[in-house]
Amino acid sequence: MTTIASSVPVKRTAKSHKHEVDFSNLEFGKYISDHMLVADYKDKQWGEAAIMPYGELSMSPAILALHYGQAVFEGMKAYKMADGNISVFRMHKHLERFNISLSRMCMPAITEALFVQGIHALIETDQDWVPSTDGSSLYIRPHMFASEARLGVKVSDQYKFVIMTSPVGPYFTKPIRVKVEETYVRAAEGGTGFAKCAGNYGGAFYPTQLAREQGFDQVLWTDARDHQYIDESGAMNVMFVLDGKLITPKLTTAILNGVTRDSILTLAREMGIPCEERKISIADLEEGFANGKLTEAFGAGTAAVVSSIATINIHGKDFQLPAVHDGSLQMQIKKKLYAIRVGLEPDVHQWNYVILMK
Ligand SMILES: *Cc1c(COP(=O)(O)O)cnc(C)c1O
Repeated sequence: MTTIASSVPVKRTAKSHKHEVDFSNLEFGKYISDHMLVADYKDKQWGEAAIMPYGELSMSPAILALHYGQAVFEGMKAYKMADGNISVFRMHKHLERFNISLSRMCMPAITEALFVQGIHALIETDQDWVPSTDGSSLYIRPHMFASEARLGVKVSDQYKFVIMTSPVGPYFTKPIRVKVEETYVRAAEGGTGFAKCAGNYGGAFYPTQLAREQGFDQVLWTDARDHQYIDESGAMNVMFVLDGKLITPKLTTAILNGVTRDSILTLAREMGIPCEERKISIADLEEGFANGKLTEAFGAGTAAVVSSIATINIHGKDFQLPAVHDGSLQMQIKKKLYAIRVGLEPDVHQWNYVILMK
């Protein structure tokens, strides 16, 4: 999918700070590119977006986002393609989810024009920031927050929409250790778990920190009512290979509908792998470990794409998964996804939004 650039006004920085960036060692989220896009919502409508040098915004400490939490974000990636153009992965799917999250938080929808043309123009402006080394990409962070200054509890009448980007390297992590969480809850049915809102992260920090102190990398969240069924792993969706099938928790209002999750399910089905979206209980995992049929477990999300799980701790006991190898389903899918993104495999689903470079 290719489109024509828009007419977002650009005020270029007089002083790029790209030379300060070590592109051979890109820590996730450490560097922010030279420009950002900012748009304001006021009097029930969006004003003109503008691209300007990345920097501080001045605002009151009374803005409602800081007190009552109306803040929503997205995360997606742009890749330098083999032919030199730039692809943004599943931009419209991210826009759709952004609006679902915004609606849950009583925030106004973003228009397709503002989101798509904004990202397009911002990436054109900072095209030199898209890394070209294998496995690296430009992470795109659109977000919106309540910007009305007022102390009374209310739904904000004013919002800011900002897009920033950050060059990121390949996310090599060693396989992680996760702990099945049976005390704390990330999200309950009927709550905001399906929305990518800031508060979900704030609430997850404490239990995650406790798990880290106990020697784990992440928690494996379970359902809020019974702590019986698996929801997600940290801020990733979670997938298992059980008895040769790819299984992942069926979406509920407590689970974030991940774009990576959806992409992996689509590719796996095309590869002829049986896939199931269903409830997965702790007992299912225990049984899979006992009979050796649980062969893979991994987190799925934009940042890491696939994050292998080496160990799952259930009721205080560690269970090990077999080592990942080139033939593992997660490795095959990760490679395929990357090949599609950079144009080495045909993009049959039109997942790539292609920005042509001049
Ligand atoms: C963003 C996110 C994911 C992953 O979604 P992707 O669209 O694949 O990046 C999963 N779980 C949570 C809680 C998230 O915030």
